[in-house]
Amino acid sequence: MSEAKTLEFRTELKQLLDIIIHSLYSEREVFLRELISNAADALDKLRFEAIARPDLVRGDPDYQIVLRSDQEARTLTISDNGIGMTEEGVIEDLGTIARSGTRAFLEALREADAADRPALIGQFGVGFYSAFMVADEVTVLTRHAAAETAVRWTSSGDGQFQVQEATKEGRGTEITLHLKEDATEFLEEWRLRQIVKKYSDFLEHPVLLEVERKKEGAEDDSETETVRERVNSGKALWLRNPDEITEEEHEEFYKSISHDFQGPARTIPYSAEGTLEYRAMMYLPQKKPFDFYWGEPKGGLQLYVQRVFVLDQCEDLMPLWLRFVKGVVDSSDLPLNISREMLQDSRVVRQIRKGLVNRVLKELEEMIEKDRDAYQRFFEEFGAVLKEGVAQDAEHRERIARLLTFRSTRTDDDETVTLGEYVERMADGQEKIYYLAGENLAALRSSPYLEGLQEKGFEVLLLTDTVDEFAFQSLREFEGKPLQAIDHGDLEDAGEEVEKEKQEQFEGLLTFLRTAIDGLKEVRLSRRLRESAACLVVDEGAASANMERLFAAMGRAGEIPTADRILELNADHPAVQAMQKLYDTDPKDQRVEDYGRLLYDQAVLAEGSKLKDPADLARRINRLIEKTAEA
Ligand code: ADP
Ligand code: MG
Repeated sequence: MSEAKTLEFRTELKQLLDIIIHSLYSEREVFLRELISNAADALDKLRFEAIARPDLVRGDPDYQIVLRSDQEARTLTISDNGIGMTEEGVIEDLGTIARSGTRAFLEALREADAADRPALIGQFGVGFYSAFMVADEVTVLTRHAAAETAVRWTSSGDGQFQVQEATKEGRGTEITLHLKEDATEFLEEWRLRQIVKKYSDFLEHPVLLEVERKKEGAEDDSETETVRERVNSGKALWLRNPDEITEEEHEEFYKSISHDFQGPARTIPYSAEGTLEYRAMMYLPQKKPFDFYWGEPKGGLQLYVQRVFVLDQCEDLMPLWLRFVKGVVDSSDLPLNISREMLQDSRVVRQIRKGLVNRVLKELEEMIEKDRDAYQRFFEEFGAVLKEGVAQDAEHRERIARLLTFRSTRTDDDETVTLGEYVERMADGQEKIYYLAGENLAALRSSPYLEGLQEKGFEVLLLTDTVDEFAFQSLREFEGKPLQAIDHGDLEDAGEEVEKEKQEQFEGLLTFLRTAIDGLKEVRLSRRLRESAACLVVDEGAASANMERLFAAMGRAGEIPTADRILELNADHPAVQAMQKLYDTDPKDQRVEDYGRLLYDQAVLAEGSKLKDPADLARRINRLIEKTAEA
């Protein structure tokens, strides 16, 4: 047997090891993920080689990874019967090759403040060398599947490593970690199980844990035997043929990744082949989680790289407006040590995201067309989130708009209409899509703004979600039909232009009221009213009363300009006509102002706002009661 050789690590590896060893590390447990994934890679490589050379696996055909801990020696051993390494391979792979991940890591590290360094290690992951986070000595005994002899690689991470020819019974690699004093937790059975479950549960190769168990039929506990128990389930649902997965299997899997106690409402499998290869298994939940609207919006999918768990809640894989989608993505085109930061700039990730968004939209499109009831159940839960996409995502705006459903003046509360259906059933002469936003359906249904349009048989969408108005302002039009808020502007379509004669007749009253009531931009005769006497409107493009309330509710009242209101009066209404007569007889009559303010207050309530001075209204009403009662 040849002499042991002592070799130096490459410079950047020396730096790296130094940092690993001397940094406080919050998630040291990832070392096991890294070593197990290397073992799994080695098994995959062998399986591939064995297609052409079956002799490589003869006598030992079951691919597996075994974990063994020795309390007394304080060692943890991870072994596999994979491809193994030759001596040159060991020296290259474990000592001299600076992989791109390592280089990127070191660069980031150089730029980071000392305080941020430990966190950085967690983000990058450093493959094999992460073993030195928990071990003060690492021994790798490995034998290539095609070789007769083995090689032993040893290092304590101090800049040097030794290699020596050795013997090993079978093929594969056995990595023994002599654990640091503060790392003995990694000898514990429960801890090892926990880590394997977390990161390697779906790895197809069995990860076995060697444990001492009481011998079957033994009298007392001292009679033990060593057994190997499989820890990972190995069932990577997303890699199987979707047709062969049962509903129960989906339910179990969905629950395990979503922490939902109910099964999914819909299963969305996807696999992409071609330039990029990835598989996804996505789900629509039945109900939104209780904390869905708490704190920062959370979402995203779990990212796996070749079955190994890498990151949770990857928002870069799924836009926020699809944050209700749960599931996993498994890619072969990303490195295992990818960090959240790297995800953001990754072209691969952007392409995956595009594919996934397209797939989910396709599913929803199919659902709304073929199973409207199920779709509506989904939409009641998550529609408001989907609408955010109309506001935020110009690329998918049109497509999402087709997926929205609304209540309207033509539906009852249990029915809905889509924009497509709306346009299809538009009345003769109708050119626009009308909508009114407010707090609740009941109030909207009895709103004065609807009157003129109702008479003409024009349908009006009634919007009650916070996000609706934002979405509509971004959308602007649908199939060439402009979206029109009916509490804005003159609303020409709601009725005939007010005749000149009438205009002149009311001129004096209108001018008087504008000066008498504060904050009014204009007082004019209305085309949109029929039964009601008055309403308040804002100019086209100004923020609506509803929008003002929304910003106020978010504590951001100052962020949108309050639009001056226009008071519209219904010239055909007896109350308005009576006022006009009163004004003509005596413009100084106090009642003109009193009545005018009463109409104004009505209009404030009808737009859903609060009165600035309710006591003032009370006084006016009381004065009125007094006078009428006296008469
Ligand atoms: P990566 O897995 O990203 O290549 P690692 O630092 O985890 O980087 O591993 C470095 C290299 O060492 C691997 O690419 C592989 O060639 C070799 N290696 C590590 N562990 C094993 C193993 N158990 N069996 C065979 N080769 C291994
Ligand atoms: Mg690796």
